[in-house]
Amino acid sequence: MEAEIIAVGTELLLGDILNTNAQFLSRELAQLGINVHFQSVVGDNPERLESVVNLARSRSDLLIFSGGLGPTQDDLTKQTVAHAFGDELRFDEEELDKIRAFFTAWGRTMPENNRRQAYVPVHGRKIENHNGTAPGMIFEDTRAPGKYAVLLPGPPYELKPMFLDTVRPWLAAMTRSALHSETLRVMGVGESHLEEKIGHLLENENPTAALYAKTAEVVIRVTAKADTPEHAKEMCEEYAQKFYAILGDKIYARGEQPIEYATVAALRAAGKTAALAESCTGGLVAKRLTDVPGASAVFGYGACTYSNGIKEKMLGVRHETLEAHGAVSSETAAEMARGVRRVSGADFGIGITGIAGPDGGTDEKPVGTVYMAVADAENTYVQKLVLTGRTRATVRESSAQHAFDMLRRIALGLPQLTAQRFDSEEPAHLREQTTALRDA
Ligand code: ATP
Repeated sequence: MEAEIIAVGTELLLGDILNTNAQFLSRELAQLGINVHFQSVVGDNPERLESVVNLARSRSDLLIFSGGLGPTQDDLTKQTVAHAFGDELRFDEEELDKIRAFFTAWGRTMPENNRRQAYVPVHGRKIENHNGTAPGMIFEDTRAPGKYAVLLPGPPYELKPMFLDTVRPWLAAMTRSALHSETLRVMGVGESHLEEKIGHLLENENPTAALYAKTAEVVIRVTAKADTPEHAKEMCEEYAQKFYAILGDKIYARGEQPIEYATVAALRAAGKTAALAESCTGGLVAKRLTDVPGASAVFGYGACTYSNGIKEKMLGVRHETLEAHGAVSSETAAEMARGVRRVSGADFGIGITGIAGPDGGTDEKPVGTVYMAVADAENTYVQKLVLTGRTRATVRESSAQHAFDMLRRIALGLPQLTAQRFDSEEPAHLREQTTALRDA
């Protein structure tokens, strides 16, 4: 089966939004073993849409559309595709009730325009949308059976669940396969370094494995294709073990949840608490930590100590330390971590200080230099990150990510990572250096 993705929307052509739906759909189709030969973007224009649809229909078996199902677009995509695939649209009362109910749930009356969204294929089938008003639809070419068009709404929070819940199983059944995926989340090894270590495991045909770089972490997605879901799951599990054998505790979790969930789980399992003293992250670590339900069991105190004076007054960072080494130094980070541990009575203290930029860097400490420390009753571990070539936001995000990993590792009794090289998704260079400083 050869597929083609068509994104509809003038906003995409104008560069106002990024075509992330095409990326998502391409990845998903690749995992199903369906080749994507073309991706196109077309504006909300009837003639151009028609020409794209006809061309795609002449060369591909499966056309997947994103967008163009909104109530203001005069049913352009639906009508054009229905016509090209020899189908028609009928008004569906049940769909109208759903659309109305959607508005009622928001305390609003349905605008008349939205009635258009209740038109569904006569021969084809509709795809339920639980997160929006526009149903999706699947057309089979009445003149060339075995050729399909799938229409999905543009908003990613509508498109993704519709694809995963309805389209993917339908395609898997058609390609006579059951799929199972496992996502392994890795901290502390950069993408290129990781590729060196596990590159041979990425070459496999079934299960497949792919790397995705995210901010300061890498995600490995293992997908197996088999005759039954159980068999696919078993194959995935077996293959995942090969990654564990190489990466061990650097795989911090499986699934979609970010690292703060693993950190909270680790602290809970250890029955320990943590306190935070944040400077350059400005409360981001506290925010993300408290995003996790149940965080109160492990976290009760987070201070945003941005100025030197407050670092001295609130945390007991010594004036001489700040004078001699500066606010962005391992010594200050260490004293922040010890200080917040002392004032809060928590088991672990975290101190984060750095230069998020865009200004404030020097030759010796360029923008992106961040020191982070974690202290327990005996030791303080300081890690230096050099996050050059990043934006202010990504320096802060990466710092938070590393803080969570340090906290997770100390809670689990794992050693802090030393001298890691980490090339992330940006052409950035990141060095980590861990030194253990004896608690003063
Ligand atoms: P709606 O019912 O919301 O009008 P639609 O199916 O007509 O949905 P569009 O109007 O094309 O979709 O897009 C709605 C929004 O969905 C866009 O403003 C954008 O935020 C998002 N979106 C659309 N297409 C894409 C895409 N290809 N990738 C990522 N986001 C997209």
